[in-house]
Amino acid sequence: MRRPLVAGNWKMHGTCASIKLLLNELATQVLPAEVDVAVFPGLVYLQAVGAQVAQSDIVVGAQDCAVQLEEGALTGETSALQLADIGCSMVLVGHSERRQLQDETDSVICRKFIAAQAAGLTPVLCVGETLAEREAGQALAVVQRQIDAVLVELGVDVFAKAVIAYEPVWAIGSGLTATPEQAQDIHAQIRAHIASHSAGVAQGLRILYGGSVKAANAAELFAQADIDGGLVGGASLNAKEFGAICRAA
Ligand code: PEP
Repeated sequence: MRRPLVAGNWKMHGTCASIKLLLNELATQVLPAEVDVAVFPGLVYLQAVGAQVAQSDIVVGAQDCAVQLEEGALTGETSALQLADIGCSMVLVGHSERRQLQDETDSVICRKFIAAQAAGLTPVLCVGETLAEREAGQALAVVQRQIDAVLVELGVDVFAKAVIAYEPVWAIGSGLTATPEQAQDIHAQIRAHIASHSAGVAQGLRILYGGSVKAANAAELFAQADIDGGLVGGASLNAKEFGAICRAA
C-alpha cells in the first residue's frame, strides 16, 4: 500500500509572523498518523519553518533548486545540497508556474531532478497540461512527454525515490478542479506508463493530484485508486482547511 502524502505549496506567500501563526494553528489540527504531511515554504523561511515543525511529523520541502549541485559563482541560486544541509527532504521540480513564468524546459527540469536526488532530496516532479492542450485532446501526450524527459533520460528506477504531482494547469489557482474521474483517468495512465517500464516502481510510486484541492473536494479525489494524496496551493495557507484535507487523505 502507498502511504498518502499531502503537500502544501505556499508559493511566494507569507511573512515571519504569518507563517509562525499558520504553523501554530496547524499544530492544533489533528493530522492522521497514516498520512505524510509536507509543507513547501518560500526559500527564506525554510529554516524557521523547519525549526518550528521539528517536534512534529511534518516535513519541509523547497519549491525549487538549482540545476547545479556543486557550489560556485551562481548568484541567486540555491543548490539541492544546500537545501539538504538546512534540513529539507523534498523539493518541487517543474511546477507549472516555473515552466511558464521562468521558461523552465523539460531538460532543465530533468537536471533539477538529478540534482535533487544526488543531494538525497525526494523530487516532486510536477506535470500537467494547459487548457488549450486539454481541449486539443493532448493532455496525456503532454504529461507523458514531461515524464519521459526524466524517464527516458534516467531510467525508470529513479521514480522509486520520487513523487509525481499531476497538476492540470487550468485547475491551478483557478477554482476549477478536475473531476475525480478526469484526474483518475490521467493518474491511471501515468501509472500504466511507468508500469510499462517497471511494474514494481509503478506500484510504489505516489502520484499526487494538484489543482484547487479544498476540504470540500479532497475526499472524493483521494478516494480514486491512483490518487495518492494532493499538492495543495491556496488551501494550504489556511490551517483548518489544510488539516481537513490531510484528514481526507
Ligand atoms: C499548486 O500551485 O501546486 C496548486 C495546486 O495550487 P492551488 O491548490 O491553489 O490550485
